[in-house]
Amino acid sequence: MELVKITELLKDAEKGGYGVGAFSARNTFLIEYVLRGASKRKSPVIVQISANEFNWFQVTAKEFADRFFEIYGKYEGKVALHLDHTRDLEIIKAAIDAGFNSVMIDASQKSFEENVALTKETVLYAHERNVEVEAELGRIGATDKIETDNDESLYTVPEEAKEFVERTGVDTLAVSIGTAHGVYPVKNPKIDLDRLARIRKQVAIPLVLHGGSGLPPETVQKAITISGGGVSKINIATDLEQAFLNSLHCERKLNSEIWQMDPAALTKAGEAVQAVVEDKMVNFVKSAGKL
Ligand SMILES: [Zn+2]
Repeated sequence: MELVKITELLKDAEKGGYGVGAFSARNTFLIEYVLRGASKRKSPVIVQISANEFNWFQVTAKEFADRFFEIYGKYEGKVALHLDHTRDLEIIKAAIDAGFNSVMIDASQKSFEENVALTKETVLYAHERNVEVEAELGRIGATDKIETDNDESLYTVPEEAKEFVERTGVDTLAVSIGTAHGVYPVKNPKIDLDRLARIRKQVAIPLVLHGGSGLPPETVQKAITISGGGVSKINIATDLEQAFLNSLHCERKLNSEIWQMDPAALTKAGEAVQAVVEDKMVNFVKSAGKL
């Protein structure tokens, strides 16, 4: 595979009316199955992992990147290596040193001014090293909070998005328009397409949808194909984890002990993850065949 700039993948996608899946590999083991699925489906792909996942699954940025660079040459296609949600600039610097070519600074829990300042600092550091930066404006909650009354107040404000992008020079922007992390147990979430359209009118850079797992394909398609270009990077984590755990007949959440299980069972579980990756490319973001 060829390591390419994430904005190159995303601008092509925006023009082509499809999305690019950003798949959380959770650990070094699953990287291979994500790449294999992309190669088989001739799809652009983003491999990612977050700072929390480094902690939960006891892997470092360097170990993750080393594994990625060890195997990515075996497959056909275009790929970007992205660091998902990270609040700590030191972890971002370690990931850049390790070879990640895109990083997310998540200061969305801070005030607008603090978010601008921290994002700008990250952009300056990353751009000097030819690495791109994603930031988040508005707050994307977890699914247990999706029914709360004050969700609306966490949504991205279009005029703020314009100011934020101008002041920070950020390359891609995660927007809060109704999705949440995790799966949606009760009912399908609404996506605020009108808000997305208004954000698009204010900013030209690629937009990122977090919380892609469990969304109905027709919902994500609407968010991708909105006039002027909607979201183009679609984060998918939970659906992969569930496929992996189901295959292992594991009731618990994924944890670092799972990697010590029987290798044959792990391989089968990796293949189950690959099947989900392929299904997302074909039916969800519709990136299959778009190389
Ligand atoms: Zn996220």
